[in-house]
Amino acid sequence: MQNQPHFKYCHASSSNKHVASIKVEGKVIHEISNLDEFYKSFGYTQDMRMAGVLPDEFIWDEYINNKAANFAACCQMHIVEYLRKYSDTFNKEYGNQFESWLASHAEVRAKRGIACAACRMKIDT
Ligand SMILES: [Zn+2]
Repeated sequence: MQNQPHFKYCHASSSNKHVASIKVEGKVIHEISNLDEFYKSFGYTQDMRMAGVLPDEFIWDEYINNKAANFAACCQMHIVEYLRKYSDTFNKEYGNQFESWLASHAEVRAKRGIACAACRMKIDT
């Protein structure tokens, strides 16, 4: 993805007073007040919760440390999709670039052939 700033998810920990956030270039642009919605945008489901899978573990295994597929672009896209819905700051600063990021994600995804959990969910529904 060209010219796209890197969005980084920081899970809640003692270092951020247990408030999960999203950072761009080291700066917090959004504090995640609705973690359930955030996890959902990554394809995390109630079934997984029932099966005892922790959402942060799921995100790590599926997007960050996935040896079977490279879902780095998806990870970015699903953070962006979440911000699009819930962050005024995001929409003000990056809203006009959203469509082009969406398009380049679709391209990456088509080339890759396999879909991540969140993309799979959208195909199913
Ligand atoms: Zn995806």
